[in-house]
Order: sequence, then structure tokens, then C-alpha cells
Amino acid sequence: MSTPQQHARLEKRLARAMSRAIEDFRMIAEGDRILVAVSGGKDSYTLHHLLASLAERAPVSFSLVAVNIDQGHPGYPGHVLGEYMRGRGHDFRMFREDTYSIVKEKVPEGKTYCSLCSRLRRGILYRIATELGCSKIALGHHRDDVLVTLLLNLFFSGQLKAMPPKLISDDGNHVVIRPLVYCAEEDIRVYAAAQQFPILPCDLCGSQENLQRKVISRLLGDLEKEHPTLRANALAALMNVRPSHLLDAALWQKLDLEVARDDEETERAERLLRLAIAPLRSARSG
Ligand code: SF4
Repeated sequence: MSTPQQHARLEKRLARAMSRAIEDFRMIAEGDRILVAVSGGKDSYTLHHLLASLAERAPVSFSLVAVNIDQGHPGYPGHVLGEYMRGRGHDFRMFREDTYSIVKEKVPEGKTYCSLCSRLRRGILYRIATELGCSKIALGHHRDDVLVTLLLNLFFSGQLKAMPPKLISDDGNHVVIRPLVYCAEEDIRVYAAAQQFPILPCDLCGSQENLQRKVISRLLGDLEKEHPTLRANALAALMNVRPSHLLDAALWQKLDLEVARDDEETERAERLLRLAIAPLRSARSG
């Protein structure tokens, strides 16, 4: 249980990391109406909470509408989320779209539903964003989601890519933003528990969480026991990419690279590393 001071410090750290990501990737512009996808999990509650408080003090004016999709999972307790959000005066909408039946029908027994389920959900969010006149859609993915995705792509899909902080849909009509990409999951977990957000269970669909994702998460967790700044270091690395030290010939051509040079960016790398580790240090001293 954290003290009020520790909680305030944690909130500040999360808000600062979020603001930095918003600034770095120009996620929010004057007049934006942002659809915040709220699933009832710790990440999206935290995202909505931090964005709502940013909206009150940010120099740019923007508004939020929190959206939850009831996907038809048996026993879905969406009313809990609705009561909480409306009780706090938030603009909250709930939509019912039975993707559960579709996924059950299409996905073979024993396979995970998540990929089809989330694709369907994304399509529905796009449609709702248009209906509600929203210019952006905010999702609650955090640093650890980004790192797991990076390693999954590296090990299993032959691509060196993580999760984009800002993404435009294929039809060019929707911009998705991920303001928590610099925030550590552990910070979010502690914050959400202290805020006593009424978390909705996420296993109602009966699907197994993607096994590979679980394995990579565990791997990172195990490594971090030995190297406490491992995830912070990995985030710093993602913020400091050196294309000349990778083997993508097409990228070399695109950047008109003739030859790689050693160590030209060491100083910048060290600075980024210090920046990434600083929150961990302040957490420990707090
Ligand atoms: S855990 Fe269930 S609800 Fe969540 S994405 Fe996977 S199938 Fe969909």
C-alpha cells in the first residue's frame, strides 16, 4: 500500500512519461476530440484518467469521449464500468456488438481468439469514432506491450518492428495514438490498484492469452530480476535506432548510406539511457 505522497509521485511520473510521448510524436492537436477505448482493464482506466487530467491543464484544448464495447461475452459486467465513469462525470458511451459469436464460430477449437477478436474490435472502434466525430482514437498500450511486440516480431515474424506510437488506418481516416508507450506496466499496475479502479475480468471470452506473448513477457520479467533496468534500457534502445548498424539493404538505400561509422552517437545513446533509467531511480528513492 503506497502513502499519499508516493501515490502523488507515481501519478506525476506516469503523467510526465505520457506527456513526453504525446509531445515526441505530436499525438494531440488543438481541437482534437479523442475517443479513449476503455476496456475496464488497468491500462485503459489509467490512460483515461491521465488524459482527463491533462485536458484540464494542457495548453491545447481537446476533449475526450470514453468508449467501451460490450462484445457479447457471457456475464460481461459492463454496468460496473458505466456506473464508475458516469458517476465521475465522464462522457462515456457503451456499444454492444456481438463479436463473441463470430469469433466462436470462425476460430477453430483450441486456437486463441485474440487476433480475430481484436481486429473486429478495431473495426468497430473506427466506425464509432466516425459516428462520434472523433479525430483520434487513444489506446492503452504501454512500454511493456511495445517491448513484447518487438521481441515477438524479432523472434517469430522476421521483422524488426515494435508498436507504433501513432498510426493511421489503411483508409487514411483514423489516427490511433498510444500515449502510454513510455509508461512501465508495473507503475500502471500499482497506480490502478491505489486508484481502486473497478477492473473488469478479462477472461470471460474463455480464450487463452497468446502463449508466445506470455513466454516473452515472462522472459523479460525473469531477466529483469537480474538486471533491474533491462526494460528501461530496451525502451532507450527503441528511441535510439541506428539504421546503419542493421542489415536492411533497402533502408540503407533509402537513407543513402555508403558506409557505417562507429560510435558517432554514443553520447546521444548515453543521454537516452540516463533519461530512461531516471524514473526507476526516482521510484526507488521514493
Ligand atoms: S482475451 Fe478475449 S476479449 Fe481479449 S482480445 Fe482475446 S479474445 Fe478478445
